[in-house]
Amino acid sequence: MIDQLYRKAVLTVSGQKPIETLVRSRGWGVAQRFVAGEDAQSALRAVKELEKDGILGNLDLLGEFVTSPDTANEFAGRVLSLLDDAHAARLKPYVSVKLSSVGQGMTVEGEDLGLANARRIVARAKGYGGFVCLDMEDHPRVDQTLAQFRTLVGEFGNAHVGTVLQSYLYRTEGDWASLQDLEPNLRIVKGAYLEPETVAMPDKADVDAAYRRLVYAQMKAGSYVNVATHDEGLIADVEHFALAHGISRDAFEFQMLYGVRRDLQKDLAARGYRVRAYIPYGRDWYPYFSRRIAERPANVMFVLRGMFKG
Ligand SMILES: Cc1cc2nc3c(=O)[nH]c(=O)nc-3n(C[C@H](O)[C@H](O)[C@H](O)COP(=O)(O)OP(=O)(O)OC[C@H]3O[C@@H](n4cnc5c(N)ncnc54)[C@H](O)[C@@H]3O)c2cc1C
Repeated sequence: MIDQLYRKAVLTVSGQKPIETLVRSRGWGVAQRFVAGEDAQSALRAVKELEKDGILGNLDLLGEFVTSPDTANEFAGRVLSLLDDAHAARLKPYVSVKLSSVGQGMTVEGEDLGLANARRIVARAKGYGGFVCLDMEDHPRVDQTLAQFRTLVGEFGNAHVGTVLQSYLYRTEGDWASLQDLEPNLRIVKGAYLEPETVAMPDKADVDAAYRRLVYAQMKAGSYVNVATHDEGLIADVEHFALAHGISRDAFEFQMLYGVRRDLQKDLAARGYRVRAYIPYGRDWYPYFSRRIAERPANVMFVLRGMFKG
């Protein structure tokens, strides 16, 4: 409950325009703990750096909730270029995309622009043997994101596109069940948005319990699961579950965020697990950065110290 109140307070304050202006003008130095840089080349350098520790990359061009078709198309074009750049750098491209950044909810020529752009992105990634994960955003977008995921799996198969389920939503176990005919590749997260108690569980213990159930169900179903958390207790439980149920290490991976628990990422990779870091980059870092600060009280002091030192 305290975690929830803290998260709500930070996300509410960070949504205020004067705070946003202040942090945007003074906070870039601090944000770089969580953001790999402003351009694709910086992000690709971060991937190569992580590779030295046996950690894979998951590239994310920052941006969300765009409001015009032109901006959405421009954003999609930059994701396509990222795929080209990653391929040219001899990487198998793995990217995450927020459908709100490529036009979800805007209809152009009778079709949802987010879906049309996602189709171009998945087609390009598939051509390079890569993978696209559709990030999950706030709850009003869940239905459309899952429907568009279903369409894309129908067109490209389940080896090149996946999506995310958030354990804090009451609806999620039902969503998991409804996707089973696709044998989906799923990333399981706790959930990072400011959601009302009518749709999301307020107690962390309930969110954690739902998280375990989702990961275990996905493992038992034999579909690939991306265990995206920094929670050491959960990670240990997943390791035990996999051992006890004979789940191969090829059937899942651990995913964490760039700049968070690098020690744990390295340790898991050294112990033979597949580990992938989510590497955001780009100029529109503020909303992503706010969610990271909201996840951990100590991060607020880190930001204040970083912004006002000297
Ligand atoms: C790869 C990846 C992809 C994600 N994709 C999505 C998505 O598509 N949609 C979505 O809603 N959410 C997404 N998230 C965010 C997720 O929902 C959680 O908000 C976030 O992972 C924090 O929860 P946790 O599982 O680490 O556990 P928590 O219980 O929040 O944290 C456990 C411990 O991890 C450490 N920790 C966690 N967060 C931080 C931080 N920001 N800074 C420093 N230490 C930290 C702390 O030691 C903390 O005690 C993603 C997370 C990851 C790792």
